[in-house]
Amino acid sequence: MACWLLNLRDRVWYNPLMHRHPFRNLLLATVALAVSVPFLLGQIDPATRRLSRAIFKQLIEINTTDSVGSTTEAAEAMARRLRDAGFPAADVAVLGPNSRKGNLVARLHGTGKQRPVLLMGHLDVVEARRSDWTSDPFQFVEKEGYFYGRGTQDMKSDDAIWVTEFIRLKHEGFKPDRDIILILTADEESGMSNGVDWLLKHHRELVDAEFAINADGGGVDTDNGKPVIVAIDASEKLYADFQLKVSNPGGHSSLPVPDNAIYHLADALGRLERFQFPLELNEVTRAYFERMALVQPGQQAADMRAVLNNPPDAAAAARLSEDPLQNSTLHTTCVATRMEAGHANNALPQSAQAIVNCRILPGHTREEVRQMLIHVADDPKVEISFVDNSGRVLDSAPNSQALPPVKLRPDVMTTLEKAAGEVWPGTPVVPTMATGASDGVYTNAAGIPTYGISGVGVDMNDVRAHGRDERVRVESFYQGVDFYYRYLKALTSVN
Ligand SMILES: [Zn+2]
Repeated sequence: MACWLLNLRDRVWYNPLMHRHPFRNLLLATVALAVSVPFLLGQIDPATRRLSRAIFKQLIEINTTDSVGSTTEAAEAMARRLRDAGFPAADVAVLGPNSRKGNLVARLHGTGKQRPVLLMGHLDVVEARRSDWTSDPFQFVEKEGYFYGRGTQDMKSDDAIWVTEFIRLKHEGFKPDRDIILILTADEESGMSNGVDWLLKHHRELVDAEFAINADGGGVDTDNGKPVIVAIDASEKLYADFQLKVSNPGGHSSLPVPDNAIYHLADALGRLERFQFPLELNEVTRAYFERMALVQPGQQAADMRAVLNNPPDAAAAARLSEDPLQNSTLHTTCVATRMEAGHANNALPQSAQAIVNCRILPGHTREEVRQMLIHVADDPKVEISFVDNSGRVLDSAPNSQALPPVKLRPDVMTTLEKAAGEVWPGTPVVPTMATGASDGVYTNAAGIPTYGISGVGVDMNDVRAHGRDERVRVESFYQGVDFYYRYLKALTSVN
């Protein structure tokens, strides 16, 4: 639950553009100029088109918001489709803590040579008001080359794609070299019943896997429908809030003294402003800079290569760090986000406090960062505490580390490059570190390395996840159907 609240908070403030985050756009505007690639339309047969569209439509039109919706209804509808396609009842289940928060769990049996792969997507969607939208958000509308509806980007398109692939693979009699488990779950966006967390706690045997693919991250960034990069999220930063507090006896403001709570706090924050955490790279961010350097223009490409040197080139790192995304990729960051002080215009402040929000690189703990903040503040009058997910202020912070990046498994990477290369030829596959959090926090923590790969291209300047008139390009959806069919087959035909 703690993690869940953390996620929610992340979402409220940072997530509207999480898996298509805005910073990437700045960067990729230049990539788009540098790479010119041909792109194919989704090469799928008419029956598959009709099937995937029907599933997509059905999902969009089942309201799965936390307030009035039901993920059970959507999960049951998908379960019915799978059973109708020939999946035995024993391999399809809808499970959950209550009648409204059901999760689908389905299994396509393989040869058993390898341990299973888990496909994970969430069924719930963010609230949407009819009055804010041009059309009913819970009606599936195809208009001028787009599908509209709540969840078209985040993330019923991918849910529909996976159910489609399960049915196709079943009809073909395809035997993967490992079981493929599909879970479509509740309460990723909000609500108290996160489905991934619940399934791991109550039905671990049903979802246990060697690794997982989460379609709620990574994916294809497009520019007017043309693919620019295929991102694979392989790491996440750790979230932490700290409170800086100064207490003082106060007094009459006509008789100021040097020992002033506000000045102590302001000076400490000033030192924090000028402080930068050390530059640090990991396997994922190294690969990120290596790949991005191939498609970046001039100076940026040179800087990306130069930070990969041992030791990294400081001037290059400084130039790159002017970009918020690159800065956050290279460093743990801590920034003041809230402040409160004093109690009267004519009184010396009895207290002054601020919240500092940190995003911690893999391999470090929150307590380590708290100690660093104490060092940076350099003032014993400034007390630095950890603020947990429920808002409690604690003397020290947890010692658990941000999870290390997942290993870029060769089978996951080479088959991804192959399948992506067939659908979006010439588009680089780029490992990325998410600065927000996804349901991957649960599976990664449970020892199931999780990769974020969405199959549906979204235009970088048309991110509408969580927003009004959410939409995807019709062709991007069908390309996703084409892509995941190829990818799942390649991924499970290695052995
Ligand atoms: Zn999502």
